[in-house]
Amino acid sequence: TKPSKSRRQTELNDIFISVKTSKWYHDRLDLILETWYIMARDQVYFFTDEDNDIYRHRTRGHLINTNCSSTYDRYALCCKMSIEYDTFIASKKRWFCHVDDDTYVNVPALVTLLQLYNDTGDWYLGKPSLSYPLKTRDLDGAGQQIAFWFATGGAGFCLSRGIALKMVPFASGGRLVTACRKIRLPDDCTIGYFVYISLNKQLTVVNQFHSHLEGLWRINLGNIANQVTFSYGQLGTRRNVVQIPGYNDSYDPSR
Ligand code: UDP
Ligand code: MN
Repeated sequence: TKPSKSRRQTELNDIFISVKTSKWYHDRLDLILETWYIMARDQVYFFTDEDNDIYRHRTRGHLINTNCSSTYDRYALCCKMSIEYDTFIASKKRWFCHVDDDTYVNVPALVTLLQLYNDTGDWYLGKPSLSYPLKTRDLDGAGQQIAFWFATGGAGFCLSRGIALKMVPFASGGRLVTACRKIRLPDDCTIGYFVYISLNKQLTVVNQFHSHLEGLWRINLGNIANQVTFSYGQLGTRRNVVQIPGYNDSYDPSR
């Protein structure tokens, strides 16, 4: 029998990682640049709303001024996502992974995860922050009730090139912003909308993605090396961070 023609396995260089940031939060980039960024310098692009020579330099030209508004509203965030998406499409990479600027990406674990899936297939990998699907009226359709899952942007999510290309008619060249405006949902929900409603595909839940909307102290130390993303923040009055013994709270408040 002939040996089956198999494609080269996915490697780090096949992954496009976009980090959403804002001029208000450029100092958050310090943590990233000093930690996981070092393992993925060529893969990571930062999407912001103002030029900044220092960070442009430190990211070796990977700081992209989207010229989107620097307000914290649906329109501005969708505007950034739209440029992230377009930049990925132009990049020819196999995988589009989006994270916020308060996220730690476990780069080797991300590569290992993506090697389990075929980038030419239709994959939307991430984790919902709700335990139920988002219910809304389809304002881009006949106004009927719809329900769908979406991966929380704050936990990070990945799209295969296969599914991302199918979104071109809805998402490319600023159409993602038009869609956000029509359906009146944030950027991460809009991606879920495209997957479920426009394409009739599904989210694959990956529990190794973690946003600060969940209790990060619950992550079992023994499993930490396999987790793909971590965030940090406050949950009520509690500091929500991964528990790693030996780290000093005041010296390293985000872990
Ligand atoms: N962000 C932004 N513009 C703003 C405020 C926030 O692009 O005006 C970005 C921020 O850089 C981060 C993401 O939106 O990547 C989420 O912001 P944050 O973590 O402050 O809020 P959360 O939604 O997690 O409460
Ligand atoms: Mn956050």
